[in-house]
Amino acid sequence: MERKALQIRNNLKNTEYLFIGLIVLVVIAIIIMMSVYIPAVSGVLSEHADNEVRTALTANSLNIQAYFNGKTESLKGFANRFMAIDLSNKEAVQKACIDVAGATGFRHIGFTEPNGITISSYGESENTSHRAFIKEGLAGRTTHYANVNCDFDDALSDMYTVPVRNPKGEIIGTLTGDCTPFAFSEVDLMEVDGDYTCFYIFDQNGDVVYCDPNNDEGISLGSNIVSMIDDRTVANDVSYFLNSTIDDTVKRIKIGGKQYITAFSSFTDSDWTIAAIVPESTVYAGLAPIISFTVVLILLMTILLLGAIILVTIKISEIKNDIESAIIDGMKVFYTDSITGHDTPARFRENYAVAMKDTATKHAMISLDVDGFKAINDLFGYDGGNEVIKKMSDSIKRNIGKNDFFTRKSGDLFYIFADFSDKNELIALADRIISDLEYQVNEVKLEISVGIYVIDDPHIKSRVAADRSDMARETLKNDKQSGYAFFDASMLEKLRRQKRIEDIMEDSLALREFIVYLQPKYALGDSNEVVGAEALVRWRHDGRLIPPGDFIPVFEKNGFVRKIDYYMFEEVCKLQKKYLSMGYKPKVISVNMSRVHINQPGFVSDLAGICDKYGIETKYLEIEITESAAYENPVKLYEIFREIKSYGFHVSIDDFGTGYSSLNMLKDLPVDVLKIDRSFLTENADEHENASLIIGCVVSLAASLRIHTICEGIETKEQAILLTKLGCNMAQGFFFARPMPVADYEELAYGIKAS
Ligand code: C2E
Ligand code: MG
Ligand code: MG
Repeated sequence: MERKALQIRNNLKNTEYLFIGLIVLVVIAIIIMMSVYIPAVSGVLSEHADNEVRTALTANSLNIQAYFNGKTESLKGFANRFMAIDLSNKEAVQKACIDVAGATGFRHIGFTEPNGITISSYGESENTSHRAFIKEGLAGRTTHYANVNCDFDDALSDMYTVPVRNPKGEIIGTLTGDCTPFAFSEVDLMEVDGDYTCFYIFDQNGDVVYCDPNNDEGISLGSNIVSMIDDRTVANDVSYFLNSTIDDTVKRIKIGGKQYITAFSSFTDSDWTIAAIVPESTVYAGLAPIISFTVVLILLMTILLLGAIILVTIKISEIKNDIESAIIDGMKVFYTDSITGHDTPARFRENYAVAMKDTATKHAMISLDVDGFKAINDLFGYDGGNEVIKKMSDSIKRNIGKNDFFTRKSGDLFYIFADFSDKNELIALADRIISDLEYQVNEVKLEISVGIYVIDDPHIKSRVAADRSDMARETLKNDKQSGYAFFDASMLEKLRRQKRIEDIMEDSLALREFIVYLQPKYALGDSNEVVGAEALVRWRHDGRLIPPGDFIPVFEKNGFVRKIDYYMFEEVCKLQKKYLSMGYKPKVISVNMSRVHINQPGFVSDLAGICDKYGIETKYLEIEITESAAYENPVKLYEIFREIKSYGFHVSIDDFGTGYSSLNMLKDLPVDVLKIDRSFLTENADEHENASLIIGCVVSLAASLRIHTICEGIETKEQAILLTKLGCNMAQGFFFARPMPVADYEELAYGIKAS
């Protein structure tokens, strides 16, 4: 049981480890999922952010370039005008400039001659040959200069310059238009998450050419983006973008610790680069629902997982506690005798196995039983009987040594395992227990039998050791007083003999080795004639006549007695049939029926069937059942007796006075004859008077109930006289006749001479 409990506990532990392992696995799986999911989501988000910035930049870049181109194209469109006029006519030139300014919307339009003299719509002619855009225009390049001081009114202006050529393609001057510096608001801007101020135009150095004055990022005219970037490597990359032709290149940068998503795109017609520099927070603000969904999802999963783990852990610990208490309860039931509160045989066997390992100490197995415990149950009831058993257990516990242990096998049968060094210690232990038990249970006189087996084989099984102590104890069964007996080898010999009997019994029956002896019964009183007989079995084997005492107890144990009894009954039927057929009125012959028949269904009808078979009336037969059967199952015994009577058999109680049945039971029991046991007839003079008194009582009580009495075991004339005087009806005993072969009985009872 303990091994089983250990196994259950180990299984439980393994399950726990398995569960922990599963949790770890699930957590790892979730971490892996998250580590894939989160980067995937953040990848998607960042790609989404990049695309948003990139898309806006592309759109705006095209838009702004188109805007700038529109400016230069409109200038170019009016360049021809100046081919058609006389350029030496300053007024005509100025007029043309005024016209163009009016048509294009530039603040001023200036025509610059190759010598650098500019005639403008403003009305002044001055030498502008030092201005870079003029130089470039005269060199044949179309330019767009931002944030230049206008020579005419000193206002900050954007300068657009286109070369003017004659039909031969020779440069005859430049046309320059100035306007207020470009503002992003002038074009239709695509915003990034509501931000219109995040666009910038840089020159190759990273200096701001244009920016929205409303931007919050501290990047304004005069700022240099490259120097503003926190990380030098990133700054170098950006510097590289500004000096190469790139298309919508996205880059993460940090300015003053703040993270930005940027996209750069080179202008096709200039060295400028347009950039979108958007705070990450602005972009991700638009992605907030996805981010919060992801965060909520992760939180939810974590909470769910944690919840599940907590729930399962609580459940497991509950189950663990339940199983643990079930194990403890189970162990208690398994190892604790519910009546005594002491060890069960299972615990005893386990203790025995451990104790036997100690070979340095001598051990003994002691078997203890109260003879006729049934009477205690009858007297005190079932619960009272249990009380006595409890008292017995406690008493044994008190008297055994500290290393000794004991158990109750069943009913009132106890086994004690005791260590000893001297046999006298065992005798003292037996005496101690007996006197303590007798003292504790003083309501009745206990007859305690103690069988002691000194364990002489260290490998002997507890069951075999117990059997041997039982054998010793059983030798005391009929002692009628408390005592102890040691096991000895002769008991084993008896056991072997029993085994031999069992080996041959079936064959012997078939060989008709079992034979009927008859002991005549005599009427007491005037006639002293033979009134019948008792059939007693004998076993003729190997030329020996074996008495029933040697084999009936064995047959009672193995059930073979039923066959023997039926056999004897049938043999008796045959005899009665024979006497009938010879013209005699058969004298009643009684046949002993073991108590093992009592619980056998159909027992009485079987006997009646045998009578039928031989055509014998049941009244010629008497069934003897020992009184001891009464305390095994009194109710059943009543039923059987009634049934026997109902078939017309005579019925007698055998060995009356040896059991524990009360005289009271006689009044209810449908019985014909009481066979008073010979143990009442004592040689002891002191007891003589008492015995006579008791027999007298029984006889007169039986008489009043119209029950016949027969006294068994009359060996002397005095006994015969006494019994006659006490009113006993019949007698059976050696004084009259011993059990005899059938032929002798026939001669005695009927005068039939053996042929
Ligand atoms: P029981 O039925 O009480 O039979 C009487 C026993 O007392 C017989 O012993 C008989 O020989 C013996 N007896 C008779 N008169 C005297 C006497 O004056 N002095 C002494 N000392 N003994 C006397 P037996 O034949 O040895 O039978 C012993 C027991 O065996 C019987 O006791 C009965 O219980 C049992 N038995 C015998 N035959 C059968 C049988 O066929 N079936 C069953 N189930 N039991 C049987
Ligand atoms: Mg008998
Ligand atoms: Mg008898």
